[in-house]
Amino acid sequence: MVLATQLLDWYDKNSRDLPWRKDNDAYKVWVSEIMLQQTRVEVVKDYYTRWMERFPTLEALAQTSEQEVLTYWQGLGYYNRARNLLSGVREVCAEYGGKVPDNAPAIQKLPGVGEYTAGAIASIAYNRPSPAIDGNVLRIFSRLFCLEEDITKQATKRKIDRLIRDHMSVERPGDFNQALMDLGSMVCIPQRPRCQLCPLATLCEAQARDVQDVLPVRTPKKAPLHIKLAAGIVIQSSSLLITQRPATGMLAGMWEFPTVELAEDDSTSERLKTRIKSDLQQEVCVGKRLFHYIHTFSHRKWDISFYQCQWLAGNTISFPAHWLGLSELDTVPWAGPHRKVATVLGEQFTQEL
Ligand code: SF4
Repeated sequence: MVLATQLLDWYDKNSRDLPWRKDNDAYKVWVSEIMLQQTRVEVVKDYYTRWMERFPTLEALAQTSEQEVLTYWQGLGYYNRARNLLSGVREVCAEYGGKVPDNAPAIQKLPGVGEYTAGAIASIAYNRPSPAIDGNVLRIFSRLFCLEEDITKQATKRKIDRLIRDHMSVERPGDFNQALMDLGSMVCIPQRPRCQLCPLATLCEAQARDVQDVLPVRTPKKAPLHIKLAAGIVIQSSSLLITQRPATGMLAGMWEFPTVELAEDDSTSERLKTRIKSDLQQEVCVGKRLFHYIHTFSHRKWDISFYQCQWLAGNTISFPAHWLGLSELDTVPWAGPHRKVATVLGEQFTQEL
């Protein structure tokens, strides 16, 4: 237990002051851990604080519409996290009387909760000796024990899981997991680990062999798929034409400007005009490009240009399309870079008033 003792001594003096660490309520740990997936701590702090002001309890969140929840999540990306969180708290209300289950296997059955999050909630909120293994922990343990196996492989993760269970503090498993999170973000960082500051330096095999800079071993990720898109900004009587994405799949249920995917030899204006005419029964004339963004998701990269479109004529539109007032642009959850454009248009509109 030397490892746990040294780690916890360090944690007691150096732990980060984070808003979700004010108490160990399971709902709060759950929200923070879901927000922290794919998003930096500094970004999450404000979102978490705003979220807890609006949804201070699990019950308050469970009673909220998906559209409002997505609006509060807007900007964090990976919106299925928010949808699953909402489904999860509703399930906890319906099946567990509003109390998050107190063990990792049961927590992991909730929507969107993986092994890591279940371990974090069970250990922090309920003091269960459940590992919470994310990329930080894989990196730290592959260095501590000088593992040369690929950390993206399941067999390596299982090996690290066993090592953690062997070394975990039984008295303070939640603090043990949080100490690893802090060590991974402040000391045993991906590039040039700060071994001179590390409480585990005397135990670390990688440091002893001076190979900490080449560990962990990891198969490189595939490059995201490059997708070229064009979107039309159609304004009529101080309203913008928007459409809702399908209920399933990427950015499900979020709103965007009418958008087309472009092939290499497509004429942008023709494709956009035809899409708006055939799907939305609106005649437009496509004008100049106003915005251009490259937006990278985990597996895709959107190369998207937004064009000014002059509205000429059209029939009444129906769901899933909508004319949204320029003063109401912050009332819907926007898909990816469409939010940046909506923000600029909203600001311009406010200045013109
Ligand atoms: S000694 Fe260095 S490589 Fe080893 S765990 Fe500490 S920071 Fe990481």
